[in-house]
Amino acid sequence: MGWEITIDRVQRRRERPKDDDLRFGRVFADHMFLMDYESGRGWHDPRIVPYGPLALPPAAAVLHYAQTIFEGLKAYATEDGRVLLFRPRENARRLNASADRLCMPRVDEDVFLDAIRTLVDLERDWVPSARGTSLYIRPLYFATEEDLSLKPSARYTFAIILSPVGSYYPRGMSPTRIFVEPDDIRSAPGGVGAAKTGGNYARCLRTEARASEAGYDQVLWLDGREKRYIEEVGAMNVFFRLDDKIVTPPLTGTILPGITRDSVLRLCGKWGIEAEERKVELREIAEAAGAGRLREAFGAGTAAVIAPIGWLHCGGDEIEINEGETGDFTEEFYEALTGIQTGRVEDGFGWTEEVPGILK
Ligand SMILES: *Cc1c(COP(=O)(O)O)cnc(C)c1O
Repeated sequence: MGWEITIDRVQRRRERPKDDDLRFGRVFADHMFLMDYESGRGWHDPRIVPYGPLALPPAAAVLHYAQTIFEGLKAYATEDGRVLLFRPRENARRLNASADRLCMPRVDEDVFLDAIRTLVDLERDWVPSARGTSLYIRPLYFATEEDLSLKPSARYTFAIILSPVGSYYPRGMSPTRIFVEPDDIRSAPGGVGAAKTGGNYARCLRTEARASEAGYDQVLWLDGREKRYIEEVGAMNVFFRLDDKIVTPPLTGTILPGITRDSVLRLCGKWGIEAEERKVELREIAEAAGAGRLREAFGAGTAAVIAPIGWLHCGGDEIEINEGETGDFTEEFYEALTGIQTGRVEDGFGWTEEVPGILK
């Protein structure tokens, strides 16, 4: 097929910020991956080039009708200097599921993986190594055809950019305060809630800003139809521990099918923890809290991996969970996942893959 990634290197490499100075998504590695799509021709011209601005005509379809999708995953440094990816093929699959929903062309899974491996290999020096740090990988593609008529674009640009990120918990894990949103909705049955597409995030900004002003860290979304059932929290899936059982909302098309979520469920299976994927009514959680059965709650997603929930604010009431402390299950899921991701804990699932050192 003649699939070869060309590499145009920067003249001078920049220095990666110190691990302690890293935040999320502010600094980008020296190079990025790009390729283009044209209908009739398919994906072509895969290349690694210096990170920098892209030229986009103001008529580019994405700027008007938001035909754009993305992914998020991380590369982790091990103590012995290797670089690991965590379940990257799952990101390729989910990207294609998002593409189908947005009428965008698919990207071959192996092309996607090859692009990530090659770019991360080149940018090995940008993978930070302090505890809790990682190299965030953001693949995305968007419609570039110059045509204001509403239709699937005939052209796309695909990019992968890399950003070293600091520890989510520089001062240790601490439970978050969550605002249960009574009015705004994130998605609805039949919508695009399961796709990682820009519009899902733009629509949350107003709600999140209000929650933040009121002193909360994240918004917990309820279902778009009845506002009775729990969906997810910020860019994380949500889990509750009721007595010794784990419950989480099911994948019915309105929430993002998280890879961290799936990993937590798989760990439950391995550890013999009973886990249920089912509708979770807000009222059930409030009642369980009242009865002392709500022992823990946490969010799960690539950015934080696991984020304990200490307080849920709903309809004027404040539910405190586990006295505002991180619970045992929450801690164990966090330790197991971050341990596997960084090679400290035996990976019995085949979840991690090493980025092979090919490039010099
Ligand atoms: C990305 C994302 C998640 C988490 O998915 P992971 O694969 O675990 O990172 C959950 N919810 C939303 C809305 C997301 O965008």
